Amino acid sequence: MTAPVSFLGRVQRDRAAGRVTALDIGARRLTERRLAAAAEYPAMEQMRDAARAIRLDVLANLDRYLGRFADAVERTGGHVFWAADGDEANDHIARLAVDRGVRTAVKSKSMVTEEIELNAALAAAGVDVTETDLGEFIVQLSGDRPSHIIAPVLHRTRHEIGELFADELGVGYTDDPVRLNAIARRHLRGIFLNADMGISGANFGVAETGGVCLVTNEGNGRLTTTAPRIHVAVMGMERLVPTMADLAVMLEVLARSATGQRMSVYTNIVTGPRRPGDPDGPDEVHVVILDNGRSEVLGGDAAEILACIRCGACLNVCPVYRASGGHAYDSVYSGPVGAVLTPSLDGLADHADLPHASSLCGACKEACPVRIDIPEMLLTLRAEVAAVGLAPDWLRRGVRLYAEAATRPGLWRALLATGGLLGRARSSWLDSLPLHGAGWTDHRQFPPPATRSFHQRWKERTRGA
Ligand code: SF4
Repeated sequence: MTAPVSFLGRVQRDRAAGRVTALDIGARRLTERRLAAAAEYPAMEQMRDAARAIRLDVLANLDRYLGRFADAVERTGGHVFWAADGDEANDHIARLAVDRGVRTAVKSKSMVTEEIELNAALAAAGVDVTETDLGEFIVQLSGDRPSHIIAPVLHRTRHEIGELFADELGVGYTDDPVRLNAIARRHLRGIFLNADMGISGANFGVAETGGVCLVTNEGNGRLTTTAPRIHVAVMGMERLVPTMADLAVMLEVLARSATGQRMSVYTNIVTGPRRPGDPDGPDEVHVVILDNGRSEVLGGDAAEILACIRCGACLNVCPVYRASGGHAYDSVYSGPVGAVLTPSLDGLADHADLPHASSLCGACKEACPVRIDIPEMLLTLRAEVAAVGLAPDWLRRGVRLYAEAATRPGLWRALLATGGLLGRARSSWLDSLPLHGAGWTDHRQFPPPATRSFHQRWKERTRGA
């Protein structure tokens, strides 16, 4: 069996493949747009407080809101399925597809269906699934994985996409984004019109009406949920708002935080199947409410991460995410939110390095529209990693050595003096450290030790005072 690749190993792999530069540029651009959108909206801070209060109320009373939402979906003629985990959700949707004679399905972007690997389950049931969000379409066409929760191909350049379309769709090469869009639209239009099933996620479920709100910029969500005869929405159980008025608050902060828009181009609210006289819409609507570890998270220290509205703002500001790329997190949820959510949902055993993938600078908390204290949760997870013995040996030994030195003043002073000498000499071996140190010096300079310690400088300063 091959050893699992660590977070740092994955970063090195993706940097070598050149996937990180495009992502860094894209993430910075999204941050600039978010800041500009917030600056021109005087009520932004007030709306963030309101959004936070709504989401925390939902988490505190989730059982009540879930019951209300499920009743409302059924009142409108929809069907609700409660899935304890990904397998249950996948089995249910695959069975539904087989029972209804579904051969082709279209999907709008949905991280929760990525989380449960729905496409593979449907393919095994003989259903041909096509992703219709442009980014997800590119991901599917190239056998890649999303690197960002709202911009799945942030790591790719338009030149690469031009080459991909030329190879896979048999069109002439172009790297003009407008023409690339037109090619994808032409390719997808016929698939939409012939699809038997449309599958979406849910940005929010509205408890009072049973509506499923979808926010997109491409209109593919609207076609996915109205053209095919069956619509299946897969929703993480925490993605509720109590009322339509609460939904309006969430929409105020979501688009501004995600893409810097005042509002996304398409906001759909699907409330039950087509009624007599409706010009379009599906004959059947099925809402799959997914737990998949969320109930356990709700009872733990990281419960607040479930207030996340998946805007991606914390990814864009995170220096670690921008330098490492989304694939290094080895999960559909990357960046700061992924560093908390993935180990919380999936267990620490396979993701013990993720809580360390942060400089704890606090930029994520500052950017988060619902003010989730991600750094605090990362610290709690790090403590848990150490408590259950999952920290790597070299780290445990290193911290033990540090503790030995830091609690012996004589030894500490001797080490500082040695460091000072090295700093003065600026030895060249500091530029290419061995073993784990190479992970640092392969990409950047190691900061030379200070030539004078803080104690020395303090003594000199107070002497002169
Ligand atoms: S944690 Fe906050 S900033 Fe990050 S994706 Fe979720 S809502 Fe957005």
